[in-house]
Amino acid sequence: MSAGASGIAFMLGACVGSFLNVCILRWPANASVVRPRSSCPRCSHGLAWYDNIPVLSWFVLRARCRNCREPIAALYPIVEALTGLIWVLALWYAGPSFMALRLAVFATILLGVAITDFRDYVIPDGFTVTGLLFLGVASVIGAWTGSEFPFADPVDALFGACVGAGAITIVGWLGEVALKKEAMGFGDSTLMAMAGAALGPGRALLTVLIAAILGAVIFVGVVIPIGWWRARARGVPFETPLVPFGVFLAPAAVLALIWGDAVLGWYIGRLTG
Ligand SMILES: [Zn+2]
Repeated sequence: MSAGASGIAFMLGACVGSFLNVCILRWPANASVVRPRSSCPRCSHGLAWYDNIPVLSWFVLRARCRNCREPIAALYPIVEALTGLIWVLALWYAGPSFMALRLAVFATILLGVAITDFRDYVIPDGFTVTGLLFLGVASVIGAWTGSEFPFADPVDALFGACVGAGAITIVGWLGEVALKKEAMGFGDSTLMAMAGAALGPGRALLTVLIAAILGAVIFVGVVIPIGWWRARARGVPFETPLVPFGVFLAPAAVLALIWGDAVLGWYIGRLTG
């Protein structure tokens, strides 16, 4: 892929990432992502176009508001750069095609889900409903144009959405019984309905399995020991923290989309061989 095409994909992705920032910050507060225009949260100084250029403006402004010098979070340029990178990788993987757009949009939505769930313990419908509709329409276009791999065909997309949402709901229900507290939000079910529509039923199950292993390792190995140690240092009783499961489901869905068929093929081969 030429450097020019990669550069255009990065800029396009970074602009989408700029809007993704707005969704990440406003949807958890049930605020509109269209109005009002972006402004400084402290002095309400409106952002001119040259203060709103993805990635670049943050460096030009040296991470401070032009008007009141309030610091601007590093989250903004990081999300913009990551989204730009996603769009470049999608272009490299699929070439200049509808498939590249499909990959890029899917991964961008998953990035938004992971960050929002990490920050606010919520998976907004704005991400999952948009994703489900986009992936449903894309599966029909893919079948019609004969360009489907690595995405599920329309029938598998339908089964995948149901199996994904069902599997995570069962895991969450059993988790609540085991932990005797609310373990998983409804957002995880909507996330897996969306991801299942991209993956189909087999890889949707694989996604839940990968995320459960990833989540268990990080929670039991890192989050719980640190939380327990901090609670002890402060002399307060230790409480099991909430699990933002979307943080693990989102990357697991990307892994399952790209490598899931190879993993499932190897596993079924071992079972039947
Ligand atoms: Zn300001």
